[in-house]
Amino acid sequence: MSQSHSQKISKPMTPAERLNRITEDAMCIGCGLCQSVAGPDTVRMELVETGYERPVVRGDLCHETVDRIMDLCPGTRVEGLPEAAQDAGTRHDLVWGAYQQMALAYAADPEVRHAGSTGGVLTALGMFLVETGEVDFILHARASDRVPTFGDRTVSETAAAVLAGAGSRYGPTAPLIDVLEQLDKGRPFAFVGKPCDIAALRNLARVDMRVNELVKYMLTPVCGGFMPPQGMSRFLEQDLGLDPEQVTGFRYRGYGCPGPTRVEMRDGTVVEKRYTDFWGTDESMWVLPFRCKVCPDGIGESADIAASDTWPGGSPDPETEDDDPGTNAIVVRSARGADLVRRAAEAGYLTVTDEVDPRYMDSVQPHQRNKKYAAGARFEGLRAEGKTVPRTARLRLDALMADLGSEDAAFQRDGTRERVRIGKASEPTPKPKD
Ligand SMILES: Cc1cc2nc3c(=O)[nH]c(=O)nc-3n(C[C@H](O)[C@H](O)[C@H](O)COP(=O)(O)OP(=O)(O)OC[C@H]3O[C@@H](n4cnc5c(N)ncnc54)[C@H](O)[C@@H]3O)c2cc1C
Ligand code: SF4
Ligand code: SF4
Repeated sequence: MSQSHSQKISKPMTPAERLNRITEDAMCIGCGLCQSVAGPDTVRMELVETGYERPVVRGDLCHETVDRIMDLCPGTRVEGLPEAAQDAGTRHDLVWGAYQQMALAYAADPEVRHAGSTGGVLTALGMFLVETGEVDFILHARASDRVPTFGDRTVSETAAAVLAGAGSRYGPTAPLIDVLEQLDKGRPFAFVGKPCDIAALRNLARVDMRVNELVKYMLTPVCGGFMPPQGMSRFLEQDLGLDPEQVTGFRYRGYGCPGPTRVEMRDGTVVEKRYTDFWGTDESMWVLPFRCKVCPDGIGESADIAASDTWPGGSPDPETEDDDPGTNAIVVRSARGADLVRRAAEAGYLTVTDEVDPRYMDSVQPHQRNKKYAAGARFEGLRAEGKTVPRTARLRLDALMADLGSEDAAFQRDGTRERVRIGKASEPTPKPKD
């Protein structure tokens, strides 16, 4: 073999290099599942130089463990509602996927509705499930004690604890960091997490039978992405003139719909801004992690129930946002989810008002509709640049891309290729910050 030929043969990647590649290709969403699978002595979620929490290899990682992670990670695999969760009552929409029912709803208890991010539906369902004893606990997220702008996974065994976790955490959050330990308890529970977290849990269900046995419900907020740490620093330092190191509490929304964005400082000062000050009113200006920009499922396709906002056009009206009591749209996907909604309403936990349809959902979630159409072409762009692309199933990406039309698809594909070339789809190898 000639020298020049042998030089072309690349060395096989080590297990650590294979795992790191998910982060380097900006596909890690920080769900924490790989820590649970590999064990925290081997792979640990840590704060890294980009300000995110990313899996850092700490111990002796083997290829078999990385193979397993690759099969489960929502950066490498995202699937729609399992066929087993579909039945004769399942309807299908090209954009919104499989569903049994779409309706407007809110928590019947005004306190829960007020505290909730939108209308408190997810919290009301969680409270119903623990108060009736149908599940022993809810695995979900609350404001982090470690980094005030982050979320931390939390285990709520009482209705009061579920309520304490109400609200959206628009910062890095790893709800699956110890999910295997939660399954080891052998107790029934419900999981609330972002659509990508639900995708990870569904992936786990393919190899761990305990998921379908013990996780009685998977509930999700419809999700357009979250605020990257750099965006948060800019908001605190440049927009508010605050020192991020002095922030002790951060509530993104809730206590109204959307409610104020509230920052608590070490010296007792409280600064409140509006949701529209935080996110802006123009979707194209949203600062998001790259993985969220190419997300093939922000609408919770594999959850039993997905709950969203209902602002016409997708953003609250600054004129009225202070007075909105909050109403969710719910996309009920499985028969199990439909049964839960019916029983929670009958028991007085949930108020369900009008039935709605996929075109109504388009009108209140235009950014989700646009992203759904663009995802297939964006993935093609990533593939053409040799980047990691999640495997997908039951998400209709090809059909959506065909419906989008070749000119628009090319625009999305080329735009993604350009982003890759200028480094937007890359993160440094995860190393701990300190
Ligand atoms: C990152 C993010 C992006 C979003 N983007 C959109 C969007 O594009 N369009 C839209 O209509 N709605 C979006 N939402 C959803 C919206 O903010 C509400 O969460 C949703 O309407 C449910 O409202 P609720 O009142 O029922 O929630 P609540 O009753 O307040 O319950 C919220 C539940 O979600 C859990 N939770 C909150 N944040 C996280 C997190 N980061 N990870 C895991 N679990 C969490 C909480 O623990 C709680 O159990 C987003 C939410 C998040 C967290
Ligand atoms: S997305 Fe989740 S499972 Fe995948 S690498 Fe990131 S933290 Fe690990
Ligand atoms: S946009 Fe997609 S990848 Fe980003 S947090 Fe939401 S569900 Fe996860």
